[in-house]
Amino acid sequence: MTVQPAIPGVSAPLPWQATDWSRLNQQLAEEQLPHALLLTGPQYTGKTRLALALARLLLCSAPAGGLNCGTCHACELSASGNHGDFRLLEPEGKSRIIKIDQIRQVVEFTGKTASFGLRKVVVIAPAENMNISAANALLKVLEEPAPNTYLILVSHRPHGLPATIRSRCQLLRPSVPSAGQSLDWLDRVCGSRLESERLLELAGERPLLAAQLHAESAGEQLLLARVALERVFAGESGVAALSAALAGADLGRTLGQLVDAIQGLLRSLDGPALASARARAGFQLLDEIMAIQRALNAGSNPNPQLLLDALLAKVQRKLGGGRLGDNIAVVTGGAHR
Ligand SMILES: [Zn+2]
Repeated sequence: MTVQPAIPGVSAPLPWQATDWSRLNQQLAEEQLPHALLLTGPQYTGKTRLALALARLLLCSAPAGGLNCGTCHACELSASGNHGDFRLLEPEGKSRIIKIDQIRQVVEFTGKTASFGLRKVVVIAPAENMNISAANALLKVLEEPAPNTYLILVSHRPHGLPATIRSRCQLLRPSVPSAGQSLDWLDRVCGSRLESERLLELAGERPLLAAQLHAESAGEQLLLARVALERVFAGESGVAALSAALAGADLGRTLGQLVDAIQGLLRSLDGPALASARARAGFQLLDEIMAIQRALNAGSNPNPQLLLDALLAKVQRKLGGGRLGDNIAVVTGGAHR
């Protein structure tokens, strides 16, 4: 279960976003801030944080030091999620898609005058999770921007958005953290460098996922699953232990973990081993898992247990039992098939 962190009084950008933040502040001061922004970049590096910090700055009636003040009435309302001039659109409930009804409400919202007479802000994250009709409805808002209204789209897969939407937004790629920056930030979240390093590695170098793991105590499960996966790859065990370790885990995250693990294995191969039948099976499996991820993002709703059982059986059959590339005849140009 996702634990929603309490929104602090002041929403600051993350330390590695300082340059992006001062640029945004400058644009705001010069009244050059675009009405539609598209924030793109790797997942779990803080794009939505940046979007929320900007949204709250735009709504605050007494900004201080380039940040929202945290104490005015507008800030109190935006902290509690009750600000009438602010909408945060995310997939609702178990659904992975942002539906047209949600966008229709935004269209209506942008047509109204701001309650505080200042600005209205809409954040949509992840924007690529809008279905086609939702995206088409949003296009209207982008084509005829309402005065004093800001749309901030967040996306780690911007090519999943229609080009018509992308072209109407100013693109911003917030800076991503170095490993050192991630660790310094994580230290303050979890209080220990050792724990920061462990979680950051588990999270595949994605600091906000590491923080989430810390908050959810899900780190242990991920670690167990990773160890079980490595044992399958090494031929030390079957998928039963892996399946048990993954029981009850979020499907999207499990798929992400499988992708990370298979990519890690493939990266560790050198030239000849990369041409082995087993390595090719690894690439095929990657394609397959990524196709499933795309389908999930597009709203497909498979039985997670059945899907996972089928995938794990393939992992064992194609990649289990020895290191990739071991004892495998090198296939040269497919001539021996
Ligand atoms: Zn304020």
